Amino acid sequence: MTIDLRSDTVTKPSKGMLDAMMQAKVGDDVFREDETINKLEVKVAKMFGKERALFFPSGTMANQTALKLHTKPGDQVICDKYAHIYNYESGGASFNSGISCKLIDGVRGMFTAKQVEEAINPDAYYYSKTSLVEVENTTNKGGGACWDFDEIIKINEVCKNNNLGYHLDGARIWNALVAKNETAMQYGNLFDTISVCFSKGLGCPVGSILVGNSEIMNDAIRIRKIFGGNMRQAGYLAAAGLYALQYNLDRLKEDHKRAKEIGEKLTNLSVIKHVEPIETNIVIFELIDDVDEKLFVKQLADKNIHIISMGGRKLRMVTHLDYTDAMHNKLIEVINLI
Ligand SMILES: *Cc1c(COP(=O)(O)O)cnc(C)c1O
Repeated sequence: MTIDLRSDTVTKPSKGMLDAMMQAKVGDDVFREDETINKLEVKVAKMFGKERALFFPSGTMANQTALKLHTKPGDQVICDKYAHIYNYESGGASFNSGISCKLIDGVRGMFTAKQVEEAINPDAYYYSKTSLVEVENTTNKGGGACWDFDEIIKINEVCKNNNLGYHLDGARIWNALVAKNETAMQYGNLFDTISVCFSKGLGCPVGSILVGNSEIMNDAIRIRKIFGGNMRQAGYLAAAGLYALQYNLDRLKEDHKRAKEIGEKLTNLSVIKHVEPIETNIVIFELIDDVDEKLFVKQLADKNIHIISMGGRKLRMVTHLDYTDAMHNKLIEVINLI
């Protein structure tokens, strides 16, 4: 039994999902004739209370398209130092949009409206123009942390007062909705654009969506084409998304419960200095100084348990759909023996 906790992206489509995919009605999406893609786009747009949604092959492409839609070359986007758009999108912000990131020194990937206000450049010509604020929920490098919704409301005010776009990287927004009992609509009301992933906790093989109102989304399909993201009969993938929204959303609770249980066990270990608070499906922990990180990871790997390093002596485990009860029991057993 291999226990893979490196990421929630390691899941493989279930039998039910594969069946739904095989039965999808498809067409050429370049002519906008794929009825399953169209159905998923309409459904997700409605969930978030937005006029439009567009299907993407990856969350990165959806985020990069949003950055392009909100900015002009030379502009600046305000985001946290842990942000995926800054750390894990291969420098795409500068490569694709010619923009820079103004990094906020937040807590677990989250920051305050006051910090946003302080990060906005004065409008003198020799500064870059601040044009966008980007929030990530849940935070990836921040350990699956969920934002305080009141702060998100306050940042929306700052954006409105300063004429800034407001983008949400909601790759794992589903986890936040379930953990905090929030609705997609609440987020749709505040953000101009939102990217969401189907290939994380929801267990799809591929797929992301960007939502927004017509005015900003009009150019999204052109940008997607420029980025090479045109697809043809991708309704087979959209069918997985529709299936996931129906069957795999509520069960995220189980991933969260297991992550908490893992965290509680880890907290008791003498080799562990600190376990970050666990709100969703991500467990990040730090080893004490005299434990070799690579060796620790390897010793687990030798027992067929796979986890990853996040740098800075932090290690990560992520629970997911393919992490079964049997695997969970085995993992707890192994932790008890450390
Ligand atoms: C996974 C992820 C993305 C998208 O990544 P892809 O690998 O392109 O799907 C974007 N933002 C966050 C926070 C993520 O965790």
